[in-house]
Amino acid sequence: MMVISHSLKIKIVSLCFASLGGVYSTTVLAQEVTTEKVTESIYVIKGKGGNIGVFIGDDGTFMIDDKFAPMSGNIMKALKSVGASEPKYLLNTHFHGDHTGGNEDFGDAGATIIAHHNVYQRLADGSSIAAFAMETPPAPDTALPVLTFDSELVFNINGERVRTFHVPSAHTDGDAMVHFEDSNVIHTGDIFFNGFYPFIDVSNGGSVQGVIDAANQALALANADTKIIPGHGPMADKAQLLEYRDMLVTVEQRLSKMKADGKMVDQVIAEFPLMDLEELWGNGMFNGDKWIGLIYDGI
Ligand SMILES: [Zn+2]
Repeated sequence: MMVISHSLKIKIVSLCFASLGGVYSTTVLAQEVTTEKVTESIYVIKGKGGNIGVFIGDDGTFMIDDKFAPMSGNIMKALKSVGASEPKYLLNTHFHGDHTGGNEDFGDAGATIIAHHNVYQRLADGSSIAAFAMETPPAPDTALPVLTFDSELVFNINGERVRTFHVPSAHTDGDAMVHFEDSNVIHTGDIFFNGFYPFIDVSNGGSVQGVIDAANQALALANADTKIIPGHGPMADKAQLLEYRDMLVTVEQRLSKMKADGKMVDQVIAEFPLMDLEELWGNGMFNGDKWIGLIYDGI
């Protein structure tokens, strides 16, 4: 049985995400989700919040992330529509509320929640995201990861080796990516925003260089046939991840030089150092000015 106490959660979510805009929408109530087939046994559930990965098989459903709490009912319907049972294992790629909001519902329904040690700590203690002046209270016990790991954890389930591994100081300080080794599928979590400037949570240990390093780890595992599920944005291939990585390298080089020259963030923004990248990458969550303001401390 799914236990969803809508009214309270909706209120909390609306407050928490009121300032975020874009993919962190305020209107998560009754948001529709859609499913997309990746392989015979792997699906993506899309809609507001982070992309959910679903791996189906005889050992049970393995799910990656769970969007916002008010969407849990629709996520369950989506799971049923592709023949998946309620999640037996639920992996959080990081602590952000658009990836962990459904933890309480799915935890109550019996999922074993798994994440990096730092995700547990942030959920248990409550957290804040400085960039959005956002405060999130401590999560209830059933929303907390039961199993936590440091560098990596391997699941041998549904006839496949599924390796999840920590990438340090990237989007946050607790990010994990997931590699379905036989299926040749990678879920990157929020290391990868496909097609637009990514949010990097500097106040929770993230850095541009860490995201570049993490993208390089994913690239090293990928070939031309690899299907890549990004944290946000459409399904991707290796070439798209490569373009994104190259954009970040360019940004890191330009901004680190300006920082070394002693420039303050307002001076940097005033010089439009990312003007040539704007058309391709600045039409998603942030334009270049806003984005520089968010990441400059993490350069
Ligand atoms: Zn995130």
